[in-house]
Amino acid sequence: MSHKVIAFHYKLTDTAGKTLDQSDSNEPLAFMTGGGQIIPGLESVLVTMNTGDKRRVEVEAKDAYGERDITRIMNVNRSQLPEGEVAVGDIFHGPNGDVVTVTAVALESITIDANHPLAGQKLIFDVEIATVRDATKEEVAHGHAHGADGHHQH
Ligand code: ZN
Repeated sequence: MSHKVIAFHYKLTDTAGKTLDQSDSNEPLAFMTGGGQIIPGLESVLVTMNTGDKRRVEVEAKDAYGERDITRIMNVNRSQLPEGEVAVGDIFHGPNGDVVTVTAVALESITIDANHPLAGQKLIFDVEIATVRDATKEEVAHGHAHGADGHHQH
């Protein structure tokens, strides 16, 4: 399978119209197709677009960050966590790259939610394609894009 590198500008909003994220106005976000770098529901549309195309893409939760899984919401004993203040909204990064959000704090226990913060949400992307090119051998070997021009250092 041949890989492309697509660079695009985007604005991400929720269904209420609140802006959740957007690309840097000077530097579009570049990703390599087939690398699992962006959510599948967005990639499947971007690969059909050409340079300069603009489009609104609505992605259902299952094709974005997945449905919320209640088994990923857990109570843990305070003694299992490091000493110190813990507050609702605190975010921890788990050992396997999970993002864990504190959703409730009680005297003895803390409720944490290991769902992605955007799980269960339909996402709306306004996108504009900046550039499309073939991936370099190096990018294919690394499994990710090296920026819009292919010379991004990392
Ligand atoms: Zn690389």
